[in-house]
Amino acid sequence: MKNKKILIIGIIIGIIFLIIFIYNKNYNILNPIIEEEFILDPSEKIIIKEEQKDVFSNINEFHWGEMPITYKIIGGEERQRKLIHEAFETISNETDEIIKFKGVNENPDISIYFKSPNTYDSNDELTLADSLPKFDPEKENLIISAEINIYGQGQVCKTGYPDLEVHEILHAFGFDDIPIMDRIMSRYSYSTSDCEIEKIDDDYISCLKKIYSNGEIDGDCSKISFNSFLEFGFEFEDICGEGWYDVEGTEFCCPEPDMIIIDDYCY
Ligand SMILES: [Zn+2]
Repeated sequence: MKNKKILIIGIIIGIIFLIIFIYNKNYNILNPIIEEEFILDPSEKIIIKEEQKDVFSNINEFHWGEMPITYKIIGGEERQRKLIHEAFETISNETDEIIKFKGVNENPDISIYFKSPNTYDSNDELTLADSLPKFDPEKENLIISAEINIYGQGQVCKTGYPDLEVHEILHAFGFDDIPIMDRIMSRYSYSTSDCEIEKIDDDYISCLKKIYSNGEIDGDCSKISFNSFLEFGFEFEDICGEGWYDVEGTEFCCPEPDMIIIDDYCY
């Protein structure tokens, strides 16, 4: 009997040692793998994070990858910040909320800076604002971020529409300036006191709806002028469109070289 008890206790102890041995063996085998996973995982996650989402991949035109587009306003007076919020709101409303924006405190898609008004460009012309989108290095029609600078107080159309702000935000969507008066992408509409702008023009809305429905909503972008950011990298308010000439010392573009400005018209 005594021997049997000793044998049973011996077997139990043996089993316990065996379990500990197997556990340790497995643990030691698993351990380096676990460590390796820890080393591999973060970098893999970074790669996934860096891969830009594009839920509008049917679209060839310049576009943001997903909604909502986030933004952060840096600096500025309350009045100026209000104009920016109004501009985002009106773009969203005018596109039937197909385009959505969201204010954030960190990692915004669009950063808006208010800066001192005396900023001159290389032609010594006062810059009202500029807007510079950045593109995905892998997919050049995909906009991944944008920086908008407003110099000074900004300007509001006499209709009360925040056209300078909307204009700059639309540049961040890849739209180019156009040399036609009184349209949202007119290069100099806001430098005149008789600005009549009340909304984004229908052809831009049509194009935006097509892009941000991934082509599900019928729309037309064929007449829209997209920016050639990829060619020269920068876009300033004071660069005239193709076929137009800068009038020295003014913010105007005229259809012929060496014209002068009288009462906001080229002569
Ligand atoms: Zn512009």
